[in-house]
Amino acid sequence: MVAEKDKANHQESEQNDVLKSTQTVIHHALDKLGYPEEVYELLKEPVRMLTVKIPVRMDDGKVKVFTGYRAQHNDAVGPTKGGIRFHPNVTEKEVKALSIWMSLKCGIVDLPYGGGKGGIICDPRDMSFRELERLSRGYVRAISQIVGPAKDIPAPDVFTNSQIMAWMMDEYSRIDEYNSPGFITGKPLVLGGSHGRETATAKGVTICIHEAAKKKGIKLEGARVVVQGFGNAGSFLAKFMHDAGAKVIGISDAYGGLHDEDGLDIDYLLDRRDSFGTVTKLFNNTITNQELLELDCDILVPAAIENQITERNANNIRASIVVEAANGPTTLEATKILTERGILLVPDVLASSGGVTVSYFEWVQNNQGYYWTEEEVEEKLEKILINSFNNVYETSQTRRVDMRLAAYMVGVRKMAEACRFRGWI
Ligand code: NAD
Repeated sequence: MVAEKDKANHQESEQNDVLKSTQTVIHHALDKLGYPEEVYELLKEPVRMLTVKIPVRMDDGKVKVFTGYRAQHNDAVGPTKGGIRFHPNVTEKEVKALSIWMSLKCGIVDLPYGGGKGGIICDPRDMSFRELERLSRGYVRAISQIVGPAKDIPAPDVFTNSQIMAWMMDEYSRIDEYNSPGFITGKPLVLGGSHGRETATAKGVTICIHEAAKKKGIKLEGARVVVQGFGNAGSFLAKFMHDAGAKVIGISDAYGGLHDEDGLDIDYLLDRRDSFGTVTKLFNNTITNQELLELDCDILVPAAIENQITERNANNIRASIVVEAANGPTTLEATKILTERGILLVPDVLASSGGVTVSYFEWVQNNQGYYWTEEEVEEKLEKILINSFNNVYETSQTRRVDMRLAAYMVGVRKMAEACRFRGWI
């Protein structure tokens, strides 16, 4: 009995291994496209992975040594690009998987980049402002040899923000002895940030929801929406859905969820959430995140963390459309179950690509020293996301594969072709 339970747990943790499941889908996508095995051998791991130790003088005078990573998945198409995550659960495997997802996103929305990703094992919720500054600057010094505006361009991710990007840009500019705004994206506007960057991921998810709703014949006006996670991606998305006339009946953060069939007061919740995306602590009548995911609704948006929809709860999901704003919220087993149940799943590598698209706009503006209006940014973003959604949807229909495999097929093709033309494979 115990052995069976151990086996089941082992199988589940294998399925929840984000790197392994990404590799499985990449392999499958390359097979479908007819590429030989050596292409998979090259693309299954980052071409470069740096592990660094960052000593930081803490406010109490003691030195704490942090571990950080920077992964560069593939630079055949162009410089690598991807966020930096500050989180206690960062692992080497997760950073590798995230860098591969960035390559796929850049391929899907057709940007001239490969994927990169960084992470530091730390808990910014327990650190002071100045400790965070010293950590951010220390990380840039540690990775400075492999990053740069034409090599690898970082950006924000979980628990990092425009202030952290500003410190990092300043540190890099000192090392480079040049003002280098193109080194990093997600900066404050006054330092060369782009209009629309803060809300870009949520805007991209919103565009995908509009397109998916059209395919499913669901009217957004009055549609019931549930959003897991109330941080940068989730809170703006809830706001955009609310503004589009949908009824946001559930939201959550790391501490629990709020549910109201009549629709939650999103403006009030936005006003009360803290900078880490926490708001439910202010309420007594909360539900669990598990209960939230299983609410009866039209559109479910996981916008928090990985492995939230698994084979344990996939049969209980009651939404017609699941749009992944978070990276990796649905396991492969669960993807299969949802697809078999006729639920339209819009995968992370497509749905959350609005952030990197506007990061690309920011980098272009920095490089040319000429800045666009918010309307210009939004118009360009909308055009790219609508095209990308329909490209992936058409591929899934014509090749009779689920949306995740279709997105991987679209995402990996440009990278594989770039490797072939360069003579790497
Ligand atoms: P964030 O740190 O701003 O917010 C995260 C939210 O998730 C918070 O509300 C937090 O309370 C909640 N959360 C944390 N642990 C949770 C748990 N165990 N259960 C339920 N909720 C939990 O992060 P973000 O930038 O909004 O990113 C959220 C997801 O979207 C991540 O997977 C990230 O990789 C992905 N994403 C973000 C962007 C972006 O531009 N922000 C771009 C692409 C993908």
